[in-house]
Amino acid sequence: MSAKIIDGQAIAAAVREEWKGRVDRLHRRDIVPGLAVVMVGDHAASHVYVRNKVKACAAIGLHSEVHKLRADIDEEAVLARIQALNANPAIHGILVELPLPPHINKDKVLDTISVEKDVDGSHCCNGGALVAGDPVFWPCTPYGIQCLLEHLQIPIEGSSAVVVGRSKTVGMPMAFMLLKKGATVSICSSKTRDLALYTRLADILVVAVGKPNLITGAMVKEGATVIDVGINRLPDGQLVGDVDFATVRERADHITPVPGGVGPMTITMLIANTVLAAEKLTRVLALRRECHDQYLVAA
Ligand code: NAP
Repeated sequence: MSAKIIDGQAIAAAVREEWKGRVDRLHRRDIVPGLAVVMVGDHAASHVYVRNKVKACAAIGLHSEVHKLRADIDEEAVLARIQALNANPAIHGILVELPLPPHINKDKVLDTISVEKDVDGSHCCNGGALVAGDPVFWPCTPYGIQCLLEHLQIPIEGSSAVVVGRSKTVGMPMAFMLLKKGATVSICSSKTRDLALYTRLADILVVAVGKPNLITGAMVKEGATVIDVGINRLPDGQLVGDVDFATVRERADHITPVPGGVGPMTITMLIANTVLAAEKLTRVLALRRECHDQYLVAA
């Protein structure tokens, strides 16, 4: 068997087209959804990711701005920049590019983003709400993966799903989202004793680790859907995921390539969440105006 390669670019383009209509509707009301990306330091890969985000925003009609901060900046100054963006009415979504330099407390920075502008669902309140019910925003990468699976009509309910990696931004929220959709979910980490024992059970296998070739064909169930989130740069410059594409492709039914699989969907959901944030704010402002007008009539 040779798996169908999931074309993340094509699916992302189709989903962005659906969101374009909502952007146009906001434009007609003189509202331009705005995204601010905060980068601290000079992480080589981040420059590429940020460039792609800025390009995608421009293509669909979103305003975006990149706040590049020096690697040796102190934590207070980063928090102050986020607070200024929280207060900026032209900005509806804020994304902090990870990793941050080690002297900066990542959780403190992410929890300073206003929940209404937390378009990557990184704030602890969004994380808690995701576990308990519906968050204000779904984290972009897992949201993009769920969207891929739904677009391809791959059944989640009743499936056995395994998520390798338990980070707060990818693995953990992915596992809860699959659980909510009715999958039976296992979460593996660096502490898992026999990784293959779990991965071989998966109808849906999501791998988000950051280690090239961690998952080989022998570790995958025949007919599985394999979603490779990892992005790794090899010494020869080649970009690869966490999955050994050549051997896994021979056993899986569907597989995402790297690049061109999950990445474009992550950016698409970032755009979607920024548009949602702008729509929500517009509704709140309209309601406030209505209440104010009613008050004036009554007074
Ligand atoms: P992370 O925060 O470093 O988390 C990595 C996870 O992998 C941890 O939970 C770790 O377990 C687990 N792990 C490490 N070695 C393992 C092993 N041998 N077996 C099983 N699990 C192991 O990384 P992340 O932010 O989730 O990102 C993961 C990868 O996805 C990276 O390559 C990143 O660049 C990529 N990524 C891609 C996108 C995209 O849009 N395509 C978006 C985000 C991230 P412990 O918790 O026990 O340490």
